[in-house]
Amino acid sequence: MAGSRMQLELSRVVHGTARLGVLKGLGSTGQHSLDVPCCLLYTHFGTVPHLTQDTLHTISSLPFVTQVALSHVAEHQDVLEEFKDGLKKFAGLRDTALFCSLHDPAAPCPTGYTTNKTVSVWGSGGRIDMSVAKFMALQKVVQPDWYQSMADGETWQINASRKRVRKSVDRTLAHLDECLLLHQKSQELDRVSMFGVVEGGDILEERVRSARETAKRPVAGFCLDGFQSGAMDPTLRIQLISAVTKELPEDKPRLLQGVGRPDEVLECVEAGVDLFEGFFPFQATERGCALCFSFNVSPDPERAGGTQTDLDEEQHTAGETQPNGDLNCDDQTQMTCFEMNLRDKRYQDDFRPLVEGCGCYCCKNHQRAYVHHLLVTNELLAGVLLMIHNTSHYQSFFHSLREALAGDKLDLLKKRVLGGSCQLADGINVDNSKRNDRD
Ligand SMILES: [Zn+2]
Repeated sequence: MAGSRMQLELSRVVHGTARLGVLKGLGSTGQHSLDVPCCLLYTHFGTVPHLTQDTLHTISSLPFVTQVALSHVAEHQDVLEEFKDGLKKFAGLRDTALFCSLHDPAAPCPTGYTTNKTVSVWGSGGRIDMSVAKFMALQKVVQPDWYQSMADGETWQINASRKRVRKSVDRTLAHLDECLLLHQKSQELDRVSMFGVVEGGDILEERVRSARETAKRPVAGFCLDGFQSGAMDPTLRIQLISAVTKELPEDKPRLLQGVGRPDEVLECVEAGVDLFEGFFPFQATERGCALCFSFNVSPDPERAGGTQTDLDEEQHTAGETQPNGDLNCDDQTQMTCFEMNLRDKRYQDDFRPLVEGCGCYCCKNHQRAYVHHLLVTNELLAGVLLMIHNTSHYQSFFHSLREALAGDKLDLLKKRVLGGSCQLADGINVDNSKRNDRD
């Protein structure tokens, strides 16, 4: 099997589908593990944006797995081939397992460029055509611990026809079979795990077919593609994800691609998802925003960052600073109700930390007013401090999520996360019907 060392041990299943467990057998020697549900560490070519390795490691409880996208790597194939020792060493990554995805979840991916034999990825220099042979050659030079197989994922758009969706499932299975064949023949990939990709757009039968057929192959786990925020009606998305996870074996992990909003993470965990891509803190940072949503389910108010009253108050007012005055969640680049916009003038003399009680370097040493000043004067330090706080806050949210699953507090956590402006501004933010028109 491709990646027979990776092993998922479930300790609890809550409400029939929400899974708590440990993904074991990670790292070069297989001695590392990852508590799930969790999110991977989002990077550009191995680097968490804005952060050096030193600053990154001031953040406690980072996940053991770093994600890199082939779209960032593909144009450096020659250099990596010459270097010979793989991306982890090239990027100076220590003590981490590397997961290689096809696309960057936070970057736009134009559609219309796949063929029966190729898919396209978009790097800084433009489009790169990828055949299975090139895709596998890249995996050999990247030397990840785990990667997704090549997939035709262009059917997340609402107007994709049934015929096109069927073709995408067929092509993705054909790519998977070819990748598996090359993987099994390759000595370099001997200890590397491969995930199969479930496609199927918004068509239930195709999703089920894709999941069933992928599950028949010797893969180590599954990527659920084409469910990114805004791609389809959220109710339909949860129905489809539930239908897909029902078809997948219980002892293999499921990674959901392109979903990062805390409320959506909770829904998807309830539908049987184990792993997420950690791009959401980066998106908030790029907007000049600090994550400030509440997630504390611990009886000790010092745990998990911030007192409930402070966070509720902040979350209640967080969305008011939207440039268009509307808590619009349709677009991934738009501010959500889980963050505060520190560019806003109201923070120019606010001497509180970003989130009261947060233990991150930024909150322990700086105030909202200082980060506001850095943002309006375009200082690079603004991104550094925001990224430290946002990464730390988001990882603590996942810690709290695992705690909630272990202690029967999932409903309390949902109340906490949705309890701020998302519900107070009823009909604006949680009105799912408004979130389905992105194309
Ligand atoms: Zn903080």
